[in-house]
Amino acid sequence: MSLDTAPGEPFGVLHVCAVPIGNLDDATPRLRRVLAEADVIACEDTRSTRRLLDLLGVTTDARLLAHHAHNEQAGAAGLVPLLRAGQSMALVSDAGTPAINDPGVALVAAAHAAGIEVVAVPGPSAVSAAVSIAGFAGTGYHFAGFLPRAAGELRALFADRSHELLVAFEGPSRIVASLAVLADCQPTRQVAVCRELTKLHEEVVRGSAIDVLAHLTDGETRGEFVVVLAPLELLSEDAPATSLAFALELEAEGVRLKRACSIAADRLGGTSNALYDAALAARGNG
Ligand code: SAM
Repeated sequence: MSLDTAPGEPFGVLHVCAVPIGNLDDATPRLRRVLAEADVIACEDTRSTRRLLDLLGVTTDARLLAHHAHNEQAGAAGLVPLLRAGQSMALVSDAGTPAINDPGVALVAAAHAAGIEVVAVPGPSAVSAAVSIAGFAGTGYHFAGFLPRAAGELRALFADRSHELLVAFEGPSRIVASLAVLADCQPTRQVAVCRELTKLHEEVVRGSAIDVLAHLTDGETRGEFVVVLAPLELLSEDAPATSLAFALELEAEGVRLKRACSIAADRLGGTSNALYDAALAARGNG
């Protein structure tokens, strides 16, 4: 319930609905009910959504209104009055969860601003599906959206996020080129390339960047991809054994000291504040 909503106002509710990313059995009963009962379904592509409704066997009297990347702001402004007039609305993408690299943010923000209740109808997303099967440890992850095309930007992204779990989308025509850049700059980094999740040709290729590149070069690269990069493992036989030395090593590689201490504390133990003080002292300015 929005804090701005006065009791008794007959506003409609905005349901932000996740739809399957391939396997229709992932449609939840709640999704089916919300779609069946909506007055309006705001969707990226009315034809795709009509097809989805048919495949799901959902019968609805809802009006399907296009709400895509090219009309997000204006579209949101046009949809909010319908919610204010009491219409119940479902927002869907072509696949997965709206507002995750798909339209939706503008409408959700406009609905909140207008005091309209916004509820999640959660379900599939390629991001969470890939992270869940990648099998890489990490306390969180950085989601980069689609990988940048320019090799320089790719290198910068891989370097800036080298000590984090990094998740990104990639297309079939770019996957080999992007992996080649990774294999060139971080050949030992562990990566999981997740293809066609929940679909007939679902496949996960896991290993070092260089091995995964070799596999992709020989194998099938049609379909949709999510890549998950494990945090780059800096520890080796002769690597520093203590959190402090590890933090200083990270700093020497360009990671800010506070961040370096937090990463080292996570990996090797200790508290990041104590490590930070120790690092300053070790440098002689503590
Ligand atoms: N909002 C969507 C979600 O939550 O999954 C993501 C939309 S984004 C525009 C589309 C990209 O997601 C695709 O180009 C691909 O990289 C990834 N993707 C979507 N479905 C996928 C699947 N079944 N398997 C692998 N990647 C997928």
